[in-house]
Amino acid sequence: MLPANKDICAMREMTCSTLLLVLVVSLTGCHEQADGAANVGQTATAAMHFSGKYPLRVVVTTGMVADLVGHVGGSFVEVTPLMGEGVDPHLYKASTGDVARLGEADAVFYSGLHLEGRMGDVLSRLANRKPTFAATDLLDRDRLLKVGPEQFDPHVWFDVALWSECLTQVEQALAGYDPPHAADYRRQAAVYRDELASLDAWCREQMAAIPTERRALVTAHDAFHYFGRAYDIEVEAIQGISTQAEAGVSQINDLVDLISRRKIKAVFVETSVSERNIRALVEGCAARGHRVEIGGQLFSDAMGKPGTPEGTYMGMVRHNVETIRRALQ
Ligand code: ZN
Repeated sequence: MLPANKDICAMREMTCSTLLLVLVVSLTGCHEQADGAANVGQTATAAMHFSGKYPLRVVVTTGMVADLVGHVGGSFVEVTPLMGEGVDPHLYKASTGDVARLGEADAVFYSGLHLEGRMGDVLSRLANRKPTFAATDLLDRDRLLKVGPEQFDPHVWFDVALWSECLTQVEQALAGYDPPHAADYRRQAAVYRDELASLDAWCREQMAAIPTERRALVTAHDAFHYFGRAYDIEVEAIQGISTQAEAGVSQINDLVDLISRRKIKAVFVETSVSERNIRALVEGCAARGHRVEIGGQLFSDAMGKPGTPEGTYMGMVRHNVETIRRALQ
């Protein structure tokens, strides 16, 4: 289960052994924070500066975060992602090897907003002893989609403009930890920010080509609400925001109703989620005489294989947008 925010706060306060940390926790207030670990980490390590041999060894959780840190860090940073192709971050538990890699890292970045639901403890503990940052930490909470009291939808990378704002956190974190290269990190972040702005414009253009009545994206789990909000497409999914809860028969039946009624042409599978539920949808629609196709495979919570276009954030977004446009247009 995802830990409730107040539990994280309680856990954090217990681990705060120094007066400084207790002070900062009470100043910032638990209710403001979606990821306690990040804030503790920043506070505990604010005065820490990198003094080792370059490149900085940075361990990250997801490929999307690796992509951000890689662009900002450039040649000064060596990035090791823990979660590879097709890995579901909601269910991922740190292996013994991961814990060792995290322990040896100079700095750690993760996505945050409880995406890495089962790594909360590991990240909290790390944050007490080394620079540990959530990429989403500086995002304005008013711009996030709420899924419960103090709980936000973590899939922010599918609104390219919003994800681009996470560059600021990565840039500030690296610049603070490695001041001699602060200007390089700022410059590299600015270059990537421009590329992401072009990608965002391209996504808008592509999605606008789909007739309004056909703009409905049906997927295996609820990863695409930011995408839907940014690029004006209605989003429906079988499983919720996290893949930790099983989909019910009634959810599948409701979606079969919707797809058949609206004559939706295609539904989509995801690389990091089982196809079983999507196949049940296709069969359910066929039983009602509506033929719906599997429009292709979308990258939701994990990027593609390293070395392929989809193994980069920009390539993954382009792949998804092209797949959706082709299937629904
Ligand atoms: Zn997800």
